[in-house]
Amino acid sequence: MSAPFHASVLTLYPDMFPGPLGHALAGRALQKGIWRLDAVNIRDFATDRHRTVDDTPAGGGPGMVLKPDVLARAIDATSPPDDARPRLLMSPRGEPLTQALVREFASQPGLVIVCGRFEGVDERVIEGRCLREVSIGDFILSGGEPAALCLLDAVVRLLPGVMGKQESGEHESFETGLLEHPHYTRPREWEGRSIPDVLLSGNHVEIERWRQQQAERLTRKRRPDLWEAWWQRQQAGQEDDAQG
Ligand code: SAH
Repeated sequence: MSAPFHASVLTLYPDMFPGPLGHALAGRALQKGIWRLDAVNIRDFATDRHRTVDDTPAGGGPGMVLKPDVLARAIDATSPPDDARPRLLMSPRGEPLTQALVREFASQPGLVIVCGRFEGVDERVIEGRCLREVSIGDFILSGGEPAALCLLDAVVRLLPGVMGKQESGEHESFETGLLEHPHYTRPREWEGRSIPDVLLSGNHVEIERWRQQQAERLTRKRRPDLWEAWWQRQQAGQEDDAQG
């Protein structure tokens, strides 16, 4: 077996890990050794008597900033210069996390993930240690830990051997460029609502057509941005076909 995917998370709250990632799919994969996770306590790299990790922002203003010297020591101890793993900083200013980015991360030997706290981290450590900033959405969390948990959850399920072949995830929302169609299971009637007839018809061509229509309908209604991009790609594809 190839070396396990190796995630190192730098945090002031190492007890938050593996947390939810110790359960279910990711937890089983962790037990099987498909991936490993180290939570590194940034505070262990503070050198003063009070183990200080933060200081007031230069130029004034509210809150505190993670000190560059302490954080850099934690990064250097965790990820030496020849470490092939990308170094990420969870940050609302970062590039938005997408399924494409998740796939890119899943193809790496692992990840080093810095979790910010307070107002954030000193800009110089982002530059000096080449941290790639990644955001999980346009909202503000109180710390990077829940963001790192989300990112790792999404990455781990794509690692070889984590999901079965059938559930390989190729039909999920975002993989096709569309949101996924609705799902149903037994009972056939529930609180006066029935499963759409076509799904019980056994006609696989019709079922596929229905699912595709539903996916398009939901995407157009809920995510005009995705719909626009998908539509452009379809048009481009048709032109390519026409040109042979
Ligand atoms: N002052 C910052 C927010 C700090 S929130 C700003 O306005 O941009 C504290 C920490 O939580 C951040 O350093 C980051 O690590 C994490 N965080 C907050 N929101 C996030 C998001 N949407 N995605 C990823 N990390 C986030």
